[in-house]
Amino acid sequence: MDDKYTKTEAIEQKNYKCSNCNIELNKEAQFCPSCGFPEKGTDLEKSKFHAHAVLNKNKYFDADKKVKEARNTLYILAGIIFVFSLYETVYKTEDATLFTINFIISFSFMILGYWSIKKPLAALLSALFLYITLIVSNGIFDPTTLYNGLVAKIFIISYLGRGVYSANAYQKELHKNENTQ
Ligand SMILES: [Zn+2]
Repeated sequence: MDDKYTKTEAIEQKNYKCSNCNIELNKEAQFCPSCGFPEKGTDLEKSKFHAHAVLNKNKYFDADKKVKEARNTLYILAGIIFVFSLYETVYKTEDATLFTINFIISFSFMILGYWSIKKPLAALLSALFLYITLIVSNGIFDPTTLYNGLVAKIFIISYLGRGVYSANAYQKELHKNENTQ
């Protein structure tokens, strides 16, 4: 009797919350709309949810790390282009147009790096595309540039590529989770 009373009271409470993420829930909700926890599910379903959450956390963490590495690569790239073109302009060419172009390129990589916090896939894909376009167009203009800093180029492309791959996998996983809720 007493038990029944407290149970009814709990359901009628205004703050009916998800037992996984504490978000406020509709008392009729089968699943939490935020985290997908099967609030009205069986114990097995609940423990399955927790097991999945741990797995996904690891996946997300790994993807997040690779996206961060790609972002840092962009910041470093932007810095190198800026310093290098500044040096070239001051000590060698004194060509203001070339400096302006390089400054815009450097700035673009900075912006794309910053944008990758919000939209990792779109930002990193754009950055990879921009970087490869630059290498190819420089190569057409002067084929010897293709071999300049070849190792660095391979490193940058592989870091950006891994970031793109991880951001894509991350988004797919998010989408999958949204669909199963
Ligand atoms: Zn929840």
